[in-house]
Amino acid sequence: MINNQIKKELPALLSKKKTVFISPAWKKNSSYIGDELAPSVKNGSIVRYKYLTIQPSAKKGEIEEVFWNKDSEYKLFCKHCGNAKHFRKKLQTDKTFGDILKRECPNYKATPEDYFNKNIGKVKLTRKEFQIQLFEEYHQNKKRFTVEVLGTISQWARSIRPSFKEKLAKGLGYKNSEEFFKEINKQFDLSKPKKFNVKIGEWIKC
Ligand SMILES: [Zn+2]
Repeated sequence: MINNQIKKELPALLSKKKTVFISPAWKKNSSYIGDELAPSVKNGSIVRYKYLTIQPSAKKGEIEEVFWNKDSEYKLFCKHCGNAKHFRKKLQTDKTFGDILKRECPNYKATPEDYFNKNIGKVKLTRKEFQIQLFEEYHQNKKRFTVEVLGTISQWARSIRPSFKEKLAKGLGYKNSEEFFKEINKQFDLSKPKKFNVKIGEWIKC
């Protein structure tokens, strides 16, 4: 199962141009004493969480269902902004519905073409799932976004260097690696290196 939640990637996901999917390779676990990510400061005191690393495990050829916002209670989402709230019954019967929509999403016109089902489709993995590490480093006094490929796939990644970063970004649905980094940094804070699992696949026609 592949879940997607980043709005910037939504157009590529809906047009099925998105063929690369990444997910955080960590899971918060209070009882686990193992890998530790950056401590976070909460209410002035440092909170240390323990994290469990999720190892990549999907094999080449596996078929995965692709979702948008899988855990949401809603089934339908707006194509323009990825939100579900336009479809709430309460809002739809509210007299101020039009005003709320205008404020929330200027492109929404309340037609069937405006929304999509959270179950997007299926992809067949064309590579074994692998892991990357994303971080920012200084290179010749300039900040540089770095993607490090971990594990056995690194030979393949080396073979398509230096375009790997760009290919990854485009496959994910970004214009380029700068846009990719900006967005992922916003979502996950890459001031400390973070690991992600990567799935690459092709869409299956249903
Ligand atoms: Zn919308």
